[in-house]
Amino acid sequence: MARARLGERIAAQRAQREARDRVRVRRTVSRRDGVRAEVDGQWLVNFCSNDYLGLATQFAVGSALQDAAAQHGVGSGASHLVSGHHALHDALEKEVADWLGAPRALLFGSGYLANLAVVQALLGDDDLCVQDRLNHASLIDAARLAGCHLRRYPHADAEGAARQLRASPDAAALLVTDGVFSMDGDVAPLEPLAQLAHEQQATLYVDDAHGVGVLGPDGRGSVAAAGLDIADVPLQLATLGKALGGYGAVVAGDDALIAHLAETARPYIYTTALPPALAAASLAAVKLARREHWRREKLQALIARFREGAQRQGLQSTSDTPIQPLVVGDDRQALALAAALEARGYWVAAIRPPTVPEGGARLRVTLSAAHTEDDVDGLLGALAIARTELGVLGAADARPTR
Ligand code: PMP
Repeated sequence: MARARLGERIAAQRAQREARDRVRVRRTVSRRDGVRAEVDGQWLVNFCSNDYLGLATQFAVGSALQDAAAQHGVGSGASHLVSGHHALHDALEKEVADWLGAPRALLFGSGYLANLAVVQALLGDDDLCVQDRLNHASLIDAARLAGCHLRRYPHADAEGAARQLRASPDAAALLVTDGVFSMDGDVAPLEPLAQLAHEQQATLYVDDAHGVGVLGPDGRGSVAAAGLDIADVPLQLATLGKALGGYGAVVAGDDALIAHLAETARPYIYTTALPPALAAASLAAVKLARREHWRREKLQALIARFREGAQRQGLQSTSDTPIQPLVVGDDRQALALAAALEARGYWVAAIRPPTVPEGGARLRVTLSAAHTEDDVDGLLGALAIARTELGVLGAADARPTR
């Protein structure tokens, strides 16, 4: 018998990762104070969290969680369709739907699950899922789970998307894009994509994990920022674990589509509902995100400060969102740069393939309204020294990601 042994195979894969500087390790945070985190005994300023509005450690959000847990317990006890659906889940769904201007919204365990759910519930074997090449991994996995035909178009290329849709004029189709691209920070060309979806009678789904809370009027995300609404984008994903500082995700959109998801999406039906107390925390966070415009204003000012400082160093940023990639290219150099910043008190994780394309290793700097101007200036200063010391990210290397 020549059955392949899993143990041998994973050992070979591990050796390959070691040889290519692709080993992944978790860093353990022992204490946290706003953007400061204690990691392996050293306090660092965290520039690699998605807590864009600083709501994760906000007092009102934490006390909403504590109060609800004291009153309702921790676990929901069951899936939504059995006995796990709580009034707090309902209130959160209504608040997000109202915020995003959608008739209905549905709460999921995470953004990853929500993406699996949307694509799996809407598409089957003969259907078509057209996606941007740089879409989040969960959207690619979603198309695989659905078993549909997945066609990817060049990044941010609405014409490329049009070619893919026109090539299969009869298939039911979902056109799917990140609103803000998670590793590059650029915003999708939503207007032409919406027009295309309309022309081609495809349904447009925008994964706005990094846009909601941050962009657009009242933080309604990339869809509202582009002047579009539910008629153009019948489904929009908002995650609760990023700008909203909690955990989970909500899909907002068309009444009939959302009702269909709630009854048929396997990643919705066959999993335990989020703890109601987490829904209470997110409800408090959404209310703050809607109302406290100063958080977005401060964040925008910090983004501008970082971009100007980077530009003075000869680093051209093409992103105007809190995600500011510093593309190094080589994995080892990206790791060395991250280590040099950490030695100076700044935490910016190196992102390597397969999370980003081959040759695209980078430091993904993320900014938060909880940072101060001094934090940003300090990071820029540390970056300048580290670049000189290591000879990485020279003006010739500092290139946009595409
Ligand atoms: N979509 C995008 C664009 C993301 O960046 C992420 C998180 N990295 C997700 C979906 C998944 O969201 P969650 O972390 O809530 O599972």
